[in-house]
Amino acid sequence: MQKTQVYVGDLPEDLVLKGSIAIDTEAMGLHLQRDRLCLVQMRDETGQVAMVHFSVGTGYHAPVLTKLLTDPSQLKIFHYARFDVGMIYRWLGVWCESIFCTKIASKLVRTYAQRHGLKDLCQELLSVELSKQAQSSDWGNETLSSVQLAYAASDVLHLHALKDRLEVMLDREGRFDLAQDLFKGLKSRVQLDLLGWDQDDIFSH
Ligand code: MN
Repeated sequence: MQKTQVYVGDLPEDLVLKGSIAIDTEAMGLHLQRDRLCLVQMRDETGQVAMVHFSVGTGYHAPVLTKLLTDPSQLKIFHYARFDVGMIYRWLGVWCESIFCTKIASKLVRTYAQRHGLKDLCQELLSVELSKQAQSSDWGNETLSSVQLAYAASDVLHLHALKDRLEVMLDREGRFDLAQDLFKGLKSRVQLDLLGWDQDDIFSH
């Protein structure tokens, strides 16, 4: 059974998360400018889960967490990194380094599919049924319920396995390098989001 720890305001200095890190965030909503970051969930390669809870009182000074997020030697696996990377920059003031996004990877290879949600990927690639019941809940609460914490953990549980499956497909379809380029370009996409070009395709005529 995996270990899950919830920390307040930052990770403890002596915590070691090993290898690549599956990561997700929960916020008050989906608006980068308006909505407050509430939770950052991480799972390492050994299955250890660590979450950092931010509430109104904690503020957003998290040097241990931000050191991990900006460490290029540890890959961060997101699903829809665009949102999480934006939230992290907006609230913690740092750009995540070394990114893999399972949603971008899915769009590049599962061109036969209409849906690229985490639930869809888990279902098709891993035969895992993911519950999204607690997705829309009050993440701003001072105390998070066990249902919320279990949901938050479940969002990072399968990202390593999904990455492994998607990498095989990216390689097979000759789109591995394109995926890497898109991951590196995420920072500029998020900068556009934060500057107000979130609805626009700047490459369009
Ligand atoms: Mn989530």
